[in-house]
Amino acid sequence: MKKEIIGYDYGECEICDTPMQEKRIKQDFWIRGELIVVEDVPAGVCPQCGEKVVKADVGRWIMNLIEDSERIAKAPKISVPAIKFDIEEVRV
Ligand SMILES: [Zn+2]
Repeated sequence: MKKEIIGYDYGECEICDTPMQEKRIKQDFWIRGELIVVEDVPAGVCPQCGEKVVKADVGRWIMNLIEDSERIAKAPKISVPAIKFDIEEVRV
């Protein structure tokens, strides 16, 4: 049986005291030079300042996941734009 994670009370934002809203977010991590995106992560998001919090067990799951190189290797790949900084454009 799947553990229910929706409906958790994230309380108020530590920064601006606004009640947090539960959302599914994308989180990105750089692991050994590789960008990994974890989708649909349940998190509390502050509608005021954008502060995000995840539950401790969700955080632990992510930590285990990003250590699991086999699972990462099998995951579907997405391509992202990669743009090199160009000093000439800054000098315009
Ligand atoms: Zn806030």
